[in-house]
Amino acid sequence: MIPFLNFKDLNVSYKKKLMAAISEVIDSGRYILGPKVVEFEKEFSKYCLVKHTIGTGNGLDALNLIIRSYKELGVFKEGDEILVPANTYIASILSISENRLKPVPVEPDLLTYNIDVEKIEQNITKKAKAILVVHLYGQVGYSESMKRIAKKYNLKIIEDCAQAHGAVYKGKKVGSLGDAAGFSFYPSKNLGGLGDGGAVTTNDQKLADMVRLLRNYGSHKKYLNEYKGINSRLDELQATVLLVKLKYLDRENVIRRKIARSYISMIKNPLLILPSASYDLAHVWHLFVVRTAKRDEFQKYLLKKGIDTLIHYPIPPHKQRAYKEWNKMIFPISEKIHDTVISLPLNPTMTAREVSKVIAACNDYGK
Ligand SMILES: *Cc1c(COP(=O)(O)O)cnc(C)c1O
Repeated sequence: MIPFLNFKDLNVSYKKKLMAAISEVIDSGRYILGPKVVEFEKEFSKYCLVKHTIGTGNGLDALNLIIRSYKELGVFKEGDEILVPANTYIASILSISENRLKPVPVEPDLLTYNIDVEKIEQNITKKAKAILVVHLYGQVGYSESMKRIAKKYNLKIIEDCAQAHGAVYKGKKVGSLGDAAGFSFYPSKNLGGLGDGGAVTTNDQKLADMVRLLRNYGSHKKYLNEYKGINSRLDELQATVLLVKLKYLDRENVIRRKIARSYISMIKNPLLILPSASYDLAHVWHLFVVRTAKRDEFQKYLLKKGIDTLIHYPIPPHKQRAYKEWNKMIFPISEKIHDTVISLPLNPTMTAREVSKVIAACNDYGK
């Protein structure tokens, strides 16, 4: 059986280093906002080519804290609108509604699965304050034309980088492309911890200061609370794990790219629509998503061949019960994507034999 993703396999090769790092933290007696978080924030800033990284409890909170901070700074207010791809993972949208701003879903592009830049302008109203660009499945969703639109309408660009650690656009890393970015270090992500974790990156000093305050009870001095903050800090233990794994992120992304290239060059089946990458470095292949008309049948077929797959995602946000008020809205492209996508196994621990097996099974489908 080829699993879709085995979390344990992602970490076994680093186990010795991880154990040593964790042991050091245990002995240090510093478990919350200690030196490892400071060091990780410094290293991740260097990696993303930004001035500031602020560790958070998870990826959703990272996005939440960016929007909340812009509210405290007087940039956003309740009722303002943020444009967001209609086919994103629910977390991107939750971060907007949690702050009582209005998410405005925009249809994605059927080729890239990222927000369709051509459709942004027609969705901008006087209340629009930002574009939340999601680099979905690992591919950069930002572009120069998006930046031009943002400039023209005075919109902030917030990146959701939860699936795209290390992806590059014209020499710049994701996390440095817009005004602020949220990352997740959930164990399955390209850079994953051994539990929950997240981070905000930005070059904006004021925003960085506000996120830093709000993640820690709205306080920068113990028992002195300037804002009604939250508790969402990156643990010292997760920071030390991430410091070990950050060193291997680029290497793992190279392996992901190599597998993706094999899939794209060797899967030849008219029943399957393969993904495309605009250029090599712009995709870090968090997921390898293909589309096919009879998706459920294809999934069962692969399972019989011993290949496990997942659907990212089966139900679009506007059809979820949580967003009842949107259930009657129609986003034909998003719905088409949700009805036809299926993710093949792709991760840095896959063997060449497993990759060949997936390719052969895909090529035999429908024959
Ligand atoms: C994983 C993910 C998040 C949320 O991250 P958590 O750490 O699980 O809160 C946000 N956006 C996208 C696109 C994601 O894939």
